[in-house]
This record gives sequence, C-alpha cells and structure tokens, in this order.
Amino acid sequence: MAEATIIDGRALAKTVKDSLATRVAALEAQGKQVRLDAVLVGGDQGAHLYAANQAKACRTVGIMYMLHELPEDASHQEVAGIIEDLNDDSGVTAIMVHMPLPAQIDTAAIQTRISVEKDVEGVNPANIGNIVFGRRSLVPCTALAVMEMIESTGVAIRGARAVCVGASTIVGKPVAVLLMQAEATVVSTNIHTKEHDELTKGADILVSAAGVPGLISADVVKKGAVVIDVGINRIVDADGKSKTVGDVDFDAVRSVAGYISPVPGGVGPMTVAMLLRNTVQASE
Ligand code: NAD
Repeated sequence: MAEATIIDGRALAKTVKDSLATRVAALEAQGKQVRLDAVLVGGDQGAHLYAANQAKACRTVGIMYMLHELPEDASHQEVAGIIEDLNDDSGVTAIMVHMPLPAQIDTAAIQTRISVEKDVEGVNPANIGNIVFGRRSLVPCTALAVMEMIESTGVAIRGARAVCVGASTIVGKPVAVLLMQAEATVVSTNIHTKEHDELTKGADILVSAAGVPGLISADVVKKGAVVIDVGINRIVDADGKSKTVGDVDFDAVRSVAGYISPVPGGVGPMTVAMLLRNTVQASE
C-alpha cells in the first residue's frame, strides 16, 4: 500500500525563514531593526534553554532578540510594569511572555495587557476576536503553523470535513476557528466527546492537539486524510529510552493517511518560523 506523503516541518520552516531574511534586510535598509522582546519570569534550566534557542532562531533571519528577565518571586505589578514599558516604547514592535508564569502572577491579565499590535504570539483575546471577525490580526503561532502545513499539501480546505482533536485556548480553538474561516466543515472534540472514533474516521483533515500519545491509531483515520500531529509527549520506549512522540501512531497511520506530519520535525519547527513571521509582520 502507498505510504502517506510526509509534511516536512523543517523544510517548510526553512523556506519561510529564507523569505523572512529578505524582508528583515529590506526593513534594515529603511533604518528599521526588527526585534523581538521576550519576558522571562524565573524559569528553570529548560525555560532558559528554550529562550536561548529562540534567540538563535531570531539571529538566523536577522531579528534582534531582547530578553527581559525577572526573578521567580517578581510581583504581578512588576511584570505588568515591564509589559507597559514595552507597549509604550516605539522601538519595540514585538512582545512575547514565556510560559508558565509563577503562581502569584495573573497570566490572563498579563496576556490581555500586551498591545494587540505587538502581541506576536496572539495571546491577547482581542487577536483571536479579530480572527473571528475576519479582521487583520496576529494569529497564535502553532495554529498558523498547522494551517500552513495543511495548505502545503494543496488539498482543498474549503468544503473539507475537518476534525480538531483538543480544544485548548492556545492551539485547538484557534485551529478550529481558522479552518472555519477557510470554510471547512469543522468539528472540535475534547476529552468528553462521545463516539470520538466515528468523528475522526470521517475527517478529510485531522488535527490532533490533545497531548495523548497513541491517541490517533490507524483504524480511526480516513484513507487519504491529511493528518497534522501537534502533540509533543515524552515517553519511555520498549528499550527504556526516553523519546518525544506526538498523538499520532505515526508508523501505522502513515499507511492510511494521504499526508502526515511527523513528531519531531513537524509542527514544532513551523511554530518557531511562524513566531518569526509574526515578528516581522508586526514590525512592517
Ligand atoms: P491542553 O492540555 O491545554 O488541552 C488538551 C485538549 O485535548 C483539551 O481540550 C482536552 O479536552 C483534549 N483531550 C485530552 N485528551 C483527549 C482525548 N483522549 N480525546 C479527545 N480530546 C482530548 O493542551 P495544549 O496546550 O493544547 O497542548 C496539546 C498538545 O500539543 C500537547 O502535547 C502540547 O505539548 C502540544 N503543543 C505543541 C506545540 C507545538 O509547537 N508543536 C505547541 C503547543 C502545544
């Protein structure tokens, strides 16, 4: 049986980054340095490594990365103050806040405070509201990555039956809304959804963002479907080795689907590319 075409997130991300480098250079020629201002409160070794990788990704396309670090015990007012300063600074065009924030900080209030035009992660509720109204907005990066990957297949979204597994605010819901905007017929599922398998089996486009390894097995996927795996799960394999997998049983689903995105090397690298693209867009 023919195997699914793999949607190579790393290759797609490289193409996006190459075109961004050109746009950044054009802005520089006009005397405008593109920059991304990131706020990190406390954070473990992993969070610092993530920020360092982000800085590196920015450098590859010529974006300046400014990390604003606050101690783990910073107050809500201190974090809010930094956001206000960045909002008011005309030299700052792109702001993001590393998650999770310590418990004493009201995350939703901080996200809502980020200027809508500078909110490159699309976490201010006004940005998702603008998507619903079909207005220009900064769209959450992972949702954008999913859409780009679906579009890269050339499969028509309009009129397709799309199922989004998982309905979180930052991934599942924005993906469902974007697919609706593209005039797919969309079903959004969650942990309480009944007859889940029946729904996924009818999907021409299946996006899984549940965070459950092995959730999408070959017998719940329609033949020829576009399958996008957003999940990032650490598991211990049969040899006792720790590894990263998605929600989709990749090896089995590959023989049923028409297109499939791998983990790692799928949505992850494209999400980074979309953050950079939003940063350039905000600067432009
Ligand atoms: P979340 O925990 O906030 O939400 C999970 C959603 O999945 C919920 O709506 C829940 O009801 C649903 N769900 C859970 N189990 C289910 C099941 N058995 N059947 C159907 N629905 C089920 O998660 P999140 O923040 O949206 O992240 C989801 C996954 O995507 C995680 O693995 C996360 O690591 C990954 N993720 C990847 C990227 C990326 O860049 N690739 C970005 C963000 C999140």
